[in-house]
Amino acid sequence: MNAARYWLSAIAESTDDAIIGKNLNGVVISWNKAAAGMFGFTADEIVGQPITAIIPPERLDEEALILDRVRRGERLVHFETERRRKDGTIVPVTLTISPIRDDAGRVIGVSKVARDLSEAHRAHLVSGRREALLSSILDTMPDALVVIDDRALIQSFSTAAERLFGFTAAEVLNRNVSMLMPSPYREEHDKYLTRHLTTGERRIIGIGRVVVGMRKDGTTFAMELTVGTVELPGAKLFTGFIRDLTERQDRERRLREMQAELIHISRLTDLGQMVSALAHEVNQPLAAMANYINGARRLLAAGNQAGGQQAIERVAEQSERARQIIRRLRDLVKKTDSAKQRESVPVTIEEATALALVGVGQGLKLEIRVAEDAAEAVIDKIQIQQVLINLMRNAVEAMGTMARRELTVSASRIGEMVEIRVTDSGPGLPESVRTRLFQPFVTTKPEGMGVGLSVCRSIVEAHGGELHGDDAAGGGTVFRFTIPRATAPVPTVA
Ligand code: ADP
Repeated sequence: MNAARYWLSAIAESTDDAIIGKNLNGVVISWNKAAAGMFGFTADEIVGQPITAIIPPERLDEEALILDRVRRGERLVHFETERRRKDGTIVPVTLTISPIRDDAGRVIGVSKVARDLSEAHRAHLVSGRREALLSSILDTMPDALVVIDDRALIQSFSTAAERLFGFTAAEVLNRNVSMLMPSPYREEHDKYLTRHLTTGERRIIGIGRVVVGMRKDGTTFAMELTVGTVELPGAKLFTGFIRDLTERQDRERRLREMQAELIHISRLTDLGQMVSALAHEVNQPLAAMANYINGARRLLAAGNQAGGQQAIERVAEQSERARQIIRRLRDLVKKTDSAKQRESVPVTIEEATALALVGVGQGLKLEIRVAEDAAEAVIDKIQIQQVLINLMRNAVEAMGTMARRELTVSASRIGEMVEIRVTDSGPGLPESVRTRLFQPFVTTKPEGMGVGLSVCRSIVEAHGGELHGDDAAGGGTVFRFTIPRATAPVPTVA
């Protein structure tokens, strides 16, 4: 053997690929170490034997075809097939087959390089199975999953997401996820994302919030959103799991969760009732005082000094009683002072909206607009949310099953206050209650308590603001109330 041949045979022995030489009759001429490892036959066992020893019976035809093509001088590159080991097990391989020529260029044999695919195959199968499992989970999961990339473009949209939003995956893939949100979130979302990517600030990631989603037909609904992040080499994805709070099975669960909130409402309802009871109580001493003063005037005019003196003492007693009642009222209001702090107006509105819309169903168009200079207020957030929920529920109830149902919540700055308006496209205020809206126990609803608006007014007034109800331009009703605007800048929360 010349030097070149030594080189070749050394290379053949050190590679992981099986290198097999055979003659044109399919008899094995050479067999390297990797071939022995791959197929289980030693070179001694197989050289001189037909190559069919490593071909599964059902693939015997293949060998004839290969030999045929090689005889014609053709080459086969990366031909994927299967071969059989000595122990009978099957090994997936990719074959590269070339003719071997003599000095005169005649084809005298075949060289076959086989690469074992089983390792690769296994990984492939596993990842294929994993994908199938994942997609079947995503298809059957009641929660919707939306995956976006770092440019907010939708990368994956599960079957439940299709049902929930009314879009097919094809309609949303590679489009900005903001299309699933109503204004103003639609416009804000890119900003949020950019801020998160540059500062790492987390407003929603890993936390989960109740937010408003928008369907293909423009209707909105309350949803619970939990966002996670996935770091891939060179890419960042965000996964959003979404639970529809308006769906029946979730409504019950959510309603249970909301009981805590309702307890809060009932506390406020108590407050409303107490306010009205106290007002009644204050009226009594005032009426008594008026009587005693009239009496004293008459007695004094008749020269009855002692009687007049007595009547005036009664007046003093009654005024002390009134003063105490007022003090009790003050204490009650003072309690609400403690929880006031700087809050984000859009977040306050957004959360209240989501809760108010639970169970409202389809067909309601919601719009939320918050002016930049009205973005923060000093409030007891829960109380102001109760006001918002009350006004929104009233609006939704007033619109009933009307074909056009539009609800707009907007916030703008008025001097040192933020004015929030809740506007509906309903039938407007009934004449019978128009002038008595804020009096307790005034209602036009068979099941109504009639305390909602009086409670709202007490809350707003305890914030130093005012609440009014008016006809909205273009029909419907607008309730507007003011709360103190936050002035100094807020430190951003990491
Ligand atoms: P309740 O909702 O229990 O009746 P409220 O004090 O909240 O008590 O409301 C009092 C009444 O005001 C309602 O019964 C209804 O007649 C009227 N009202 C309130 N909001 C609206 C609205 N957005 N559109 C029309 N009428 C309304």
